[in-house]
Amino acid sequence: MAKIIEKIRGHKVQLKRFSERVQDEKLGQTLLFVGPEGIGKRLVAKAIAQSLVCEISQNACGSCGACTRIEKEQSESLLLIKPTGTGIKVDQARDVIHFTSLKTQGQARCVIINDANKLNHQAANALLKTLEEPPEKTYFFLIAPSHQSVLMTIRSRAQVTRFGPLDQSDLSPNEQIPQWVIEASGGRLDRLGFLSEPESLEIRKRALALFMSLTDSNLSRPFETIKEVCKDKTEAIQITRLLQQFVRDLAVMKYDATKMIHKDLRPHFEQMQKLSHSSLDLLFLHLKELERDIERHVDRTLSMEEFWLSGRKELSKETVCPG
Ligand SMILES: [Zn+2]
Repeated sequence: MAKIIEKIRGHKVQLKRFSERVQDEKLGQTLLFVGPEGIGKRLVAKAIAQSLVCEISQNACGSCGACTRIEKEQSESLLLIKPTGTGIKVDQARDVIHFTSLKTQGQARCVIINDANKLNHQAANALLKTLEEPPEKTYFFLIAPSHQSVLMTIRSRAQVTRFGPLDQSDLSPNEQIPQWVIEASGGRLDRLGFLSEPESLEIRKRALALFMSLTDSNLSRPFETIKEVCKDKTEAIQITRLLQQFVRDLAVMKYDATKMIHKDLRPHFEQMQKLSHSSLDLLFLHLKELERDIERHVDRTLSMEEFWLSGRKELSKETVCPG
């Protein structure tokens, strides 16, 4: 059984609407799906593609040849496009045009364009005519983080559907996932998966040690830890994001501790509660800069050391003479 719709978490309203449109044969042929990354927009497109090509049912039977091939992404009725290198180029647009110029083999055919915001002008212009008047039984699914990120010429031709982050019950329907992981994922399945790995717990421990050492002068300078976490770019970015969440939690904790992401770390944060909002703001700003520097391939270790030194200097003013 390979009914794709059963693998989708959340997005119930959108799925219901699409299923009605497919049954009433009122589905638009050029669809633009917008919303955060990692929430399953592409999977929704694949599920609709399955219901369009199924040989048995408009709800997709999940077991006929057409359904199976869509699920495996080996269907003659499905073309998947994603950026190569920096963007989606005109050669790929030509592949799409060629695909849609052939005779339709089955019930329908679908083109899923991932990261449609990365269509370059040339490619977009090449596709305009086809998106404007798609051949019969041909459906386009354009996936993008936001409506505005897609070229105006493209988005004005598409029917837009918005998808939001997943809520907690969709993220963790039955598995035992720690609360902080769910909160920190921001409703994204890709982040949820990453944060659920055992290494992530280890990374959080390191982030916490770094965070605590900013204000506790009894703790030694964490330069060994910094060197260690900066060996890997992904881990360094992960650490800066965790530190941002810790700062956010400290600010939120003053008013409503139930809104914290890392509620379980509250006992650790208690001693930092005296920090003023302006210090927390500044710290957050520096962490954002640090994240940008790491993304930009600036010397990670040096940037993090500088962050730590300036952070400790700034915060020590407040922790020495509170109030
Ligand atoms: Zn089927």
